[in-house]
Amino acid sequence: MARKFFVGGNWKCNGTAEEVKKIVNTLNEAQVPSQDVVEVVVSPPYVFLPMVKSILRPDFHVAAQNCWVKKGGAFTGEVSAEMLVNLDIPWVILGHSERRALLNETNEFVGDKVAYALAQGLKVIACVGETLEQREAGSTMDVVAAQTKAIADRVSNWSDVVIAYEPVWAIGTGKVASPAQAQEVHDELRKWLAKNVSADVAATTRIIYGGSVNGGNCKELGGQADVDGFLVGGASLKPEFIDIIKAAEVKKSA
Ligand code: PEP
Repeated sequence: MARKFFVGGNWKCNGTAEEVKKIVNTLNEAQVPSQDVVEVVVSPPYVFLPMVKSILRPDFHVAAQNCWVKKGGAFTGEVSAEMLVNLDIPWVILGHSERRALLNETNEFVGDKVAYALAQGLKVIACVGETLEQREAGSTMDVVAAQTKAIADRVSNWSDVVIAYEPVWAIGTGKVASPAQAQEVHDELRKWLAKNVSADVAATTRIIYGGSVNGGNCKELGGQADVDGFLVGGASLKPEFIDIIKAAEVKKSA
């Protein structure tokens, strides 16, 4: 089964209501490949989710940028998976490196969140990736495998999981991984899934790349055999996000 190209836009903690409407208008007017070629998901901050969902073209979907690790209750400031389901928000990004680093989210905590969100019926973009220090120490695959294992230990159904490989040194830095660097880790990750989960999960799970993807580098990255799309931060706020969505065509003609 072919893996459908996936392009996610992580808007992070950016934007006013007016700016968000402008981004949505640009997306709504864009000519992009059809839904059988590319799945597009944008992730505005929580407060804008209902508005974006209500005005966004129906072939694009929305994701929350996080959710609480278990059922809601006395957890001030958190948003539960049940609330997202209640508002028909289909996707959630979990384990983003900014949350792992700044909010001390451990591999186990992220694994618990992924399992809980899936159990509530959400689809999950689960982020993994090494720091520059870890890459330079030669431990990229150990780090990424440990992050993935914490998810695999808790998850049995992978059909609603997209793995985002996002090297931390490439996020928001303008220092994109080379196509060969991305392909190498994606290939290793797929082999890890084959060995530790199943051949079927390895063959069907989408592994997308994130880290300084832009309109200029997306085609070459997207052309790599094991790169099934992108998670895009900075460029997802700009019109060039459309070009990144169109990079899905490289797979169609491959
Ligand atoms: C991200 O935050 O997930 C990301 C990939 O950011 P950027 O594209 O800005 O590097």
